[in-house]
Amino acid sequence: MLLWASENRWCSRTLPRYGFVRRAVGRFMPGEELEDALRAARKLVDRHGMSALVTVLGENVESEEEAKRAADHYCEVAHRVVKSGLDAEISLKPTHLGLDFGIAVAERNIRRVAEAAEEKGSCVWLDMEYSRYVNATLTLYRALLADHPSVGICLQSYLRRTPKDLESLIPLGASIRIVKGAYAESPTIALPTRKEVDAALFQQATRLLQPDARKAGVRLGLATHDTSIIRRVGRWAAEKGVEAGSWEHQMLYGIAEGEQRRLARTGRKVRVLISYGTHWFAWYARRLAERPANIGFLARNILPR
Ligand SMILES: Cc1cc2nc3c(=O)[nH]c(=O)nc-3n(C[C@H](O)[C@H](O)[C@H](O)COP(=O)(O)OP(=O)(O)OC[C@H]3O[C@@H](n4cnc5c(N)ncnc54)[C@H](O)[C@@H]3O)c2cc1C
Repeated sequence: MLLWASENRWCSRTLPRYGFVRRAVGRFMPGEELEDALRAARKLVDRHGMSALVTVLGENVESEEEAKRAADHYCEVAHRVVKSGLDAEISLKPTHLGLDFGIAVAERNIRRVAEAAEEKGSCVWLDMEYSRYVNATLTLYRALLADHPSVGICLQSYLRRTPKDLESLIPLGASIRIVKGAYAESPTIALPTRKEVDAALFQQATRLLQPDARKAGVRLGLATHDTSIIRRVGRWAAEKGVEAGSWEHQMLYGIAEGEQRRLARTGRKVRVLISYGTHWFAWYARRLAERPANIGFLARNILPR
């Protein structure tokens, strides 16, 4: 139901007006402004020795002009991130930058952001959205990679096609963030059980740490809060003699903070994705869907403080 709500226009226009929904979302994002995200990033860097990924919430824009404005904003983000001296990278959704209007539109916009980020010593990651966008996102990624070798892409372990996509990206020395996957997909396209998805994530993460992948220059972002998988990958790497610094843990702001700190304390690279902006409903509904207990948290916010 939550994943259905994440796609529903009425829900995304109406529900954010309710105070209890707005209060509850505060758990997953530090605020609606770039300043809020940068302040949160500063805390993570200074207090816990972590790095950041910054994203402006938004997807499926309604016009090319809106996509261009999103790119303008991201260029400003790149500028501000560097001015702040933070180790922060940018993560963006291709449909926010105009993918629904064709690959060429998104490519034009994302190239501008990638150039601004690179010029400032940072880089851009492409999020992966619904399965209907995977082909276009991969095409876009390959085009960007030719001129921007540090650009990264997200692959979703729940998709049956992912092992093949992974193999095609390894020889390119791609930067790959591997996640379980957050969208409602049919079992013909996606693995239907949690057990299968967990096994796929472990398999794919360790594939990206094999000697040929590391030799090709693959950068792995293991983006999960699942402590059992995190530990299994750690044990596997130790057994194979792969240094723990060979990959990076990526997690979401406000989730599994204890694990984030534990990893950072033990010298692991931890990068926290901080989201901000006003278009947060679809994204927030996906976060609720990931963990049923979050509904209780939302319900508690119905009571005025
Ligand atoms: C940095 C980053 C980038 C991502 N980018 C994408 C993307 O581009 N495309 C995409 O499809 N998905 C993306 N995701 C989301 C991902 O696909 C999963 O939906 C999400 O990470 C939850 O799965 P998990 O691996 O943490 O495992 P789970 O088994 O879902 O969670 C493990 C444990 O983590 C905690 N936890 C997880 N999620 C929540 C939550 N929402 N609220 C409270 N606790 C929680 C719980 O304790 C849970 O038991 C991203 C995730 C991260 C961390």
